Amino acid sequence: MTAHSGRHFLQIPGPTNVPDRVLRAMARPTIDHRGPEFAELARDLLRRLGPVFGTGGPVVVYPSSGTGAWEAALVNTLSPGDRVLAFDTGHFATLWRDMAEGLGLVVDLVPGDWRRGVDPAAVAERLAADRAHAVAAVLVVHNETSTGVTSRVPEIRAAIDDADHPALLLVDTISSLASIDYRHDAWGVDVTVGCSQKGLMLPPGLGFNAISQKALAAADTARLPRSYWDWAPILAANEGGHFPYTPPTNLLYGLREALLLLEEEGLSAVFARHDRHAEATRAAVRGWGLEVLCADEREYSSSLTAVLLGDGHDADKVRQIILDRFDMSLGTGLGRLAGRVFRIGHLGDLNDLTLAGTLAGVQLGLQLAGVAVDPGGLQAALDVLRAAHEDRTGDR
Ligand code: PLP
Repeated sequence: MTAHSGRHFLQIPGPTNVPDRVLRAMARPTIDHRGPEFAELARDLLRRLGPVFGTGGPVVVYPSSGTGAWEAALVNTLSPGDRVLAFDTGHFATLWRDMAEGLGLVVDLVPGDWRRGVDPAAVAERLAADRAHAVAAVLVVHNETSTGVTSRVPEIRAAIDDADHPALLLVDTISSLASIDYRHDAWGVDVTVGCSQKGLMLPPGLGFNAISQKALAAADTARLPRSYWDWAPILAANEGGHFPYTPPTNLLYGLREALLLLEEEGLSAVFARHDRHAEATRAAVRGWGLEVLCADEREYSSSLTAVLLGDGHDADKVRQIILDRFDMSLGTGLGRLAGRVFRIGHLGDLNDLTLAGTLAGVQLGLQLAGVAVDPGGLQAALDVLRAAHEDRTGDR
């Protein structure tokens, strides 16, 4: 491996760069998880977590990856043989669907081309046809990390309501939480699934479920087997600031610090920053003469951009050159997109110049890989960033 100076550019769409303040917050002695100091930490961070999900209701924290939090959402609310409505919007939607089937649920799958999000009209149509109300839950990946497409959750909610259907709405926000505007309560979501290693700027290791009253009621009668993932003992223990198992204390120190960072910047400023970086990235892609994978501008992701390479080019070769020469990691093409796209992560702890450096590295890598790109791409991105600052100066 080549030795590199300077800092590695971790520009995959998660895990993301962990800020120094968060790293330092975690470098402390692990304390007694049954003692008063821990209880204060847990109560404080459970209080601070709600606003990030846009909820005044409970948020359960698991020592797990996002996949565990997916399972928790299903096993707490559903019973063997229940029907769920799912959408073929990308690699992660596929994995969640496969998990649902593996757990004994029956999946109605709406086909998709992996360039668009969940179509609210398809939700309306499927649920209107389900007069017997056999569908128990609708599964939506808010931000599909494999494609850079963000589904329109409020319109999906409206479609469920228009059909007057009682299905639960379960939403994966793994790569949108704390990066893209999201409102668990206001949008009528029943379970929101999240994790630590993306917009929350933490290492992997925490999974989350934000839970509506309707989902809590569903848990009373849901019969899929559950033990570790069971919300009830966790919510009961959380009341006293504890967990029914040994919690990942040092990750929780980090979580508290990350929540403080988000509060200091303000969530709306965090979302605006991600919107700006996404817009600049798309300007670069178009400027290079390449195509953004997301086909509907209403669904552009603000946390990552998947870039489609033309025939005859291997996206993984471009990524390899960028890693070798410039010490930057980009996301690979997943599933049916393997080799055809690379993904630029622009979520979590980054600023305008991190993004400018990232896009400079991508441009150099494309050129070295022999992809014919217009070097005006980088300038187009810088123009977007500059214009955003000029707007701000004008405001003063
Ligand atoms: N859902 C989405 C949208 C993801 O991006 C990922 C991982 O990247 C997952 C689920 C699975 O999460 P994990 O890898 O933390 O288990």
